[in-house]
Amino acid sequence: MIDLLMSKPHWLVVTGAGISAASGVPTYRNQRGEWQRKPPVTHQEFVANSESRQRFWGRNMIGWRFISEAQPNLAHQALVQLEQRGVVSALITQNVDRLHQRAGSCDVVDLHGRVDRVSCLDCGANQSRASLQPWFEEHNPEFAKLGGRIAPDGDADIDDLDFSRLEIPACRQCRGTLKPDAVFFGASIPRQRVALSEALVERAAGLLVIGSSLQTYSGYRLCLSAERHGKPIALLCDGITRADKIATEKVHADCLPVLQGWLARLTSIGA
Ligand SMILES: [Zn+2]
Repeated sequence: MIDLLMSKPHWLVVTGAGISAASGVPTYRNQRGEWQRKPPVTHQEFVANSESRQRFWGRNMIGWRFISEAQPNLAHQALVQLEQRGVVSALITQNVDRLHQRAGSCDVVDLHGRVDRVSCLDCGANQSRASLQPWFEEHNPEFAKLGGRIAPDGDADIDDLDFSRLEIPACRQCRGTLKPDAVFFGASIPRQRVALSEALVERAAGLLVIGSSLQTYSGYRLCLSAERHGKPIALLCDGITRADKIATEKVHADCLPVLQGWLARLTSIGA
């Protein structure tokens, strides 16, 4: 696949959970693209009822520990180098962990938003997610203790918990409802962000999808758009993806060693 990538510069990369797995960020789906645990709270449920918000924040309070401690891994760093060498022109990520930016990638679109920032649904005021953690832990000591025990792959344990006693913080300005700046299931991606992503597909030599099963339509749509524009689609994923049938080339493998192999090859030929 590296030959295909080197045949023309400026690929648009689309990444999914697979690239952050080695950083300890919990993934939602297995290699067959199936849910590994209870589906996340939808946008509609979150807005409509307080039980859903408690369930969401309870899982988030425990999961935050892993997201806040996660560091970019060698796959994120390989993409920074591919960007510096001109193989990659821009990156669209379906991840909400901001690890690409922290690794040093310059041109990144957070297709599904970000979880390190929280906004008020009523007045729009925002604050960092990190600033809420002490409040959560102070008001919910029994859940804080659990957070220390549950691992990223222990989401079944989280699903079994009773979150009805969980206290959740309100907006500091208006006491309104706080929500992470991530696009929840059931909500649409802001139109401007969709338009920007489409423009990036049009400008790119082709689409390189890494570590995503593309089960979410927003990611698959980018592949359909590439196909419509006659651009090659390269897939690097260790499982089945929704775009397998329209792919130009697919490498069925864990992304990290493959990316490192590509870099070694580029270095050896002085590219
Ligand atoms: Zn507010």
